[in-house]
Amino acid sequence: MTTNENNFQAIISHAKEYGFVFQSSEIYDGLSAVYDYGPYGSELKKNIKDYWWRSMTQFHENIVGIDAAIFMHPTTWKASGHVDNFSDPMIDNKDSNKRYRVDHLIEGYAEELTAQGKEKESEELITEMDRLLAAEDFTALKKLLEQHKISCAVSGTCNWTDIRQFNLMFSTQVGSVTEESDTIYLRPETAQGIFVNFLNVQKTARMKIPFGIAQIGKAFRNEIVARQFIFRMREFEQMEMQFFIRPGTQAQWFEYWKKTRLDWHLSLGIPADKYRYHNHVKLAHYADAALDIEYEFPFGFKEVEGIHSRTDFDLKSHQAYSGKKMQYFDNEINQNYIPYVIETSIGLDRMFLLIMSHAYEEETITKEDGSTDSRSVLHFPALLAPVKLAVLPLTKKDGLPEIARDLMNDCKTAFRCFYEEKDAIGKRYRRQDAIGTPFCVTIDHQTKEDQTVTIRYRDSMKQERVPLDKVKQLVQQAVA
Ligand code: ATP
Repeated sequence: MTTNENNFQAIISHAKEYGFVFQSSEIYDGLSAVYDYGPYGSELKKNIKDYWWRSMTQFHENIVGIDAAIFMHPTTWKASGHVDNFSDPMIDNKDSNKRYRVDHLIEGYAEELTAQGKEKESEELITEMDRLLAAEDFTALKKLLEQHKISCAVSGTCNWTDIRQFNLMFSTQVGSVTEESDTIYLRPETAQGIFVNFLNVQKTARMKIPFGIAQIGKAFRNEIVARQFIFRMREFEQMEMQFFIRPGTQAQWFEYWKKTRLDWHLSLGIPADKYRYHNHVKLAHYADAALDIEYEFPFGFKEVEGIHSRTDFDLKSHQAYSGKKMQYFDNEINQNYIPYVIETSIGLDRMFLLIMSHAYEEETITKEDGSTDSRSVLHFPALLAPVKLAVLPLTKKDGLPEIARDLMNDCKTAFRCFYEEKDAIGKRYRRQDAIGTPFCVTIDHQTKEDQTVTIRYRDSMKQERVPLDKVKQLVQQAVA
């Protein structure tokens, strides 16, 4: 295994050991590509959600939120194009019976070429793949696999079936009697809940174009190949925003959201060189421009967020299928039109993995006497950390727990705190490092004399004495 793969495995183990992410239904050996978030994971996830929600709705006067249902009228998915187009080209290896996404197979091979220093060949292969995918020329795509002798990782052979399209939507039935029931889908994206509510929101919140509608919620995709932990799941959460604009202004708004969204990522203190833009060559059926914001995960640069210029495709199509007008009267130019849309769509679980990947460190510490020690630490931005402050009385007696409890009670209404009396202080610090708590405060005997405490900073491990009554403010400033 390479160091990066080792690092990724270490992150997965750490996520489990410290209550961030568990495999779903683990006692039954799990369910593939479905995960549960534990005590610290659910807290981290909620903090990411809140930060996104705030940056969308609170920081932009012209963006409001909704919370639409997962189930939608089945015609929604006909109108959106998902029934006919939401599929991935897949192929099976006849010897191993393993199923692959064709684009993943080719991309994997291209990465190998790059690693061997054959960048030009790798780029040409990807360009050719994009061209064939766009043309939906599956015969030629299969030939491309054969030409390059791209083989199955399990059987090692190139004995492939033909390429087929595989629809990613999950379906289920509503209605209790099978004969009377209707097939409905679990939404594969949250965006359609926004489109069908476009007029409801515009009218009730009295929104004027340009304006946005934001939503956070579950989405479901029957992914052919689900691996890489929570990177590709069958049930996941999206944070999406549809920004409704005047037709003809899409290029300028696309640029605006491209920059604004990358700035959001950078505002979390993640270095810019960990990110890059990837422009789509093969555009989705609804888009006139699209790009991904990619992050360098331990397994390479991969998409974390998509910015799509969706034209008026969705509203126009819903208008055609529903027979209801999806128009907006723009009184500045005295015209009725179907708005164009720029979408920003980020996977909450992928963002969670990004934050975990960036934060995780297996650190070697050199002590004053020259000996070494190690610690597992999560360098979360304080704003996202599951616990902000650990309050630790040095001993269980001499009135120290009482002082600590008073501090807890004062702080817990403002941010998430953690209280612990057990074990040596060093051990307690390490446990807080492992869950990413940015501040620990120790109450000791000196506290009783001069009302000061020791504050210990997670990243530098520096300790200093500060007045007890300044702790709350200090933490609040850091997590604001
Ligand atoms: P990919 O190419 O990785 O399959 P996509 O281009 O199909 O992703 P979009 O339809 O643009 O993804 O969805 C927007 C965002 O939703 C993605 O950027 C990603 O963060 C998230 N997302 C999509 N599919 C999954 C999944 N199966 N598991 C977790 N997150 C996902």
